[in-house]
Amino acid sequence: MVEKQITVTSPLLPDIEELNKYLSDIWSGKWITNNGKYHRQLEDALCEYLKVPYISLFTNGTLPLITALQALHITGEVITTPYSFVATTHAIWWNGATPVFVDIDPATGDMDPERIEAAITTRTTAIMPVHVYGKPCRTKEIQEIADKYGLKVIYDAAHAFGVEVDGESILTSGDLSTLSFHATKVFNTIEGGALVMRDAETKKRIDYLKNFGFAGETVVVGPGINSKMDEVRAAYGLCELKIIDDAIEARHQVAIKYREALRDVEGITFFDDMPGVKHNYSYFPIFVDAEKYGRTRDELYNELRQHNILGRRYFYPLISTFSTYSGLPSASPENLPNAHRMAESVICLPMHHELTEEDLNRIIGIIINK
Ligand SMILES: *Cc1c(COP(=O)(O)O)cnc(C)c1O
Repeated sequence: MVEKQITVTSPLLPDIEELNKYLSDIWSGKWITNNGKYHRQLEDALCEYLKVPYISLFTNGTLPLITALQALHITGEVITTPYSFVATTHAIWWNGATPVFVDIDPATGDMDPERIEAAITTRTTAIMPVHVYGKPCRTKEIQEIADKYGLKVIYDAAHAFGVEVDGESILTSGDLSTLSFHATKVFNTIEGGALVMRDAETKKRIDYLKNFGFAGETVVVGPGINSKMDEVRAAYGLCELKIIDDAIEARHQVAIKYREALRDVEGITFFDDMPGVKHNYSYFPIFVDAEKYGRTRDELYNELRQHNILGRRYFYPLISTFSTYSGLPSASPENLPNAHRMAESVICLPMHHELTEEDLNRIIGIIINK
């Protein structure tokens, strides 16, 4: 018997009737892209929901990374983490800058601020950390270093939609933060993304850069890209906002269940919630210590697959091992021991709003019954 497939994530789809009302309106108005009314409405709604002053919508989560570096005139070297999705480092490459990898803090998976200073050279212009799994970076320490050396800080916050520390959005840390609204993320617009900024002047500049650099009908102020979110996706996003809180709460319940069931399993560890942090439960990574657990990470990963349970090894392999980057001096495994250990032990378990009690019992059963 083939067991029901359980995927690592499942897209949060808006109510179709609700979406249809917006689509009918778009169809009759015939304004389908280029800063339409739903584009503007979604920007406003997201500012309010995320508690941020300014946001600019994009067609995906990679172009805001590239545009953020462009907007801040980043050149030379950018200090970043190898423990992320490959788009983080690609954004540095697209700007003609050199990524410099520093190791992660094994307690969180985020860039270790204590490694940053040793990586700074006369060519360093920016730090690009990632709030991995939506777990907030040590933003204060990172900012202190940035201020001391006059560096920009751009956060890849693709996992951190709605994450708050002591009631404040994590997205206002640093100079700029980027979001991804890809179908696999907590909040999605099928494909989509955004840049969060703290002042109107920066928003204006970013809005030019995502529209070919046009600052008016006949004026081009820079070599911009095209990354404007269209009206259909903006409407989808507005409908999605109406159901996002319930979806995050459903994820929260999944995290509670996993933690209860796996807390005492020898050789399996996971992250607990951090005090003062409003989490979004975007992922549920577990870490397998093969010696204590009695099976390797890949043995468990493959056994889950045999039972049609599709976990993912996020983030394995490390970005620093891909051929584009593996020749960099900072990419050497000796420089990145914690990142290598985490990449070799992680499995992200299925985590989404539709997992049933039965699904969870099946997943947990396989992990517990060695
Ligand atoms: C998903 C993701 C991106 C890229 O977003 P897209 O919308 O897929 O382009 C960038 N960085 C991280 C950390 C991500 O998880």
